[in-house]
Amino acid sequence: RSGPEQILKANNLLMQFGGVKALNNVDLVVQRGSIHGLIGPNGSGKSTMMNVLTGIYVPTAGAIQFVEEQIHGKSSAHIALNGIARTFQNVQLFGEMTALENVLVGLHHTFRSTLPEVALKLPRHSREEKEAIARAMNLLNFVGLADLAMEEARNLPYGKQRLLEIARALALDPRLLLLDEPAAGLTAPDIKELVAIIHKIREHGITLILIEHHMDMVMAICDTVTVLDFGQKIAEGTPAEVQTNEKVVEAYLGG
Ligand code: ADP
Ligand code: MG
Repeated sequence: RSGPEQILKANNLLMQFGGVKALNNVDLVVQRGSIHGLIGPNGSGKSTMMNVLTGIYVPTAGAIQFVEEQIHGKSSAHIALNGIARTFQNVQLFGEMTALENVLVGLHHTFRSTLPEVALKLPRHSREEKEAIARAMNLLNFVGLADLAMEEARNLPYGKQRLLEIARALALDPRLLLLDEPAAGLTAPDIKELVAIIHKIREHGITLILIEHHMDMVMAICDTVTVLDFGQKIAEGTPAEVQTNEKVVEAYLGG
């Protein structure tokens, strides 16, 4: 896709929760078309960064430019509709709805706590409904879940639930996709499948930010890695650079 080389530019982000600076003057620049890793110890501010980038939290200070727009202070619905989709650290599916219905919810641009009924509000058998179902099936197929379309989400194996979340996020047709620990709890074969899907997503021109603790995966697939510790950026560079950075080894990799 076209647009500026730097799809996301966050400047001096501060996110304060009472006395805790979950993000403390963090800059983050993401190159269009890249897979950008975000790593660091637990509590270092990674999920907070995603919540700030997606409008779930309004930063205490700082600015976020996404493509050509200043998005800090915009609602999460606005940001989602304008190109940033995400998955959550903990699975957030509608368990009693089928895989297909979960993706349909994503297609209707609803978000998180909003109503699952939306998927059911579509006029039955309309052209619109048929198109939505076809598109949702395409997305399920993309993540290898077409055969499981009619299964309730809660009955899918955990690894498949994580892929379903990705399909739902892709339903927003994002330019930037944020994945919060997508490989957590996955088996080695599941991780292999996930990595292949992440590569396919990037081939479609979608930029990714990946929060992950699986260092082999981060090092194998990320172009650039940003390292947080206690809400501050302590290093940034290629995987090889950050892996050998003394501060990173001390704060995170050494333990
Ligand atoms: P990570 O994802 O890197 O493990 P988080 O971004 O979840 O870290 O958390 C960073 C810090 O911010 C932690 O100290 C956490 O307790 C705090 N924090 C995150 N969200 C909130 C919140 N909604 N209210 C209060 N503190 C929060
Ligand atoms: Mg987290």
